[in-house]
Amino acid sequence: MDNINNNASERIVLHIPVELSAEEFAALCRIKPDSSAFEMLEETYPLIKQYGAPKAIIRWANVDGVEEDRTTIEGVTFRSKVAADKLKDTPRVFLSVITAGEGLENSGEFDDDPFLNTYNGALLSLASGYVVRYMKEKFGFDGGSTLNPGSLPDWPIKNNFELFRMIGSVDEIGVSLNEAGYIKPWNSVSHIHFSGDGYQNCSLCKREGCIGRRAKFDRAEYERIFGKE
Ligand code: SF4
Repeated sequence: MDNINNNASERIVLHIPVELSAEEFAALCRIKPDSSAFEMLEETYPLIKQYGAPKAIIRWANVDGVEEDRTTIEGVTFRSKVAADKLKDTPRVFLSVITAGEGLENSGEFDDDPFLNTYNGALLSLASGYVVRYMKEKFGFDGGSTLNPGSLPDWPIKNNFELFRMIGSVDEIGVSLNEAGYIKPWNSVSHIHFSGDGYQNCSLCKREGCIGRRAKFDRAEYERIFGKE
């Protein structure tokens, strides 16, 4: 993990290498090794390794305090029951923005490839795993518990505006927000990472049939935080 550019003491830009085997990358794409899709991926994978350019910016931030449903991080107050619940005993968090990047699109090699979005989704997964490992290896920080704006009505997408402002200069890795607060390019994500129990917003999200689900819906936890409906 040495492909790093430190711009400030607490803000770190990561250019993330694509070093997985074709089999490991296929698993991130949810492609089975004995399928015809895997044969296509194996052929394309050298180009993915060549042009894939996932990146991230992470930044330490101090939690000033939590009061009822208000959490203040370095002077910025977020209103959210789940954020208050998860960050009430947390002195420090990592803020992050992580992107698959647009290396594949910009190469021109994937113009007609129907799997382009799948490959970019896998690059984002790869980058997300790299970022959490980086926090652990460099800082001993368990950043696997995350709050990401837009995944719950209680933690809306508009929180990206403050989060991005706090991280600063996100255009350095080619990301931006649209007017509603969604991140461009599409295969990008923002988080507040905190040390905890491996919490993922999916555990409080009721959306059925979501292919991105990373944790089962936990009704008891949902009712503990939001009350019974
Ligand atoms: S289940 Fe799907 S929509 Fe809900 S938080 Fe997880 S990824 Fe987002």
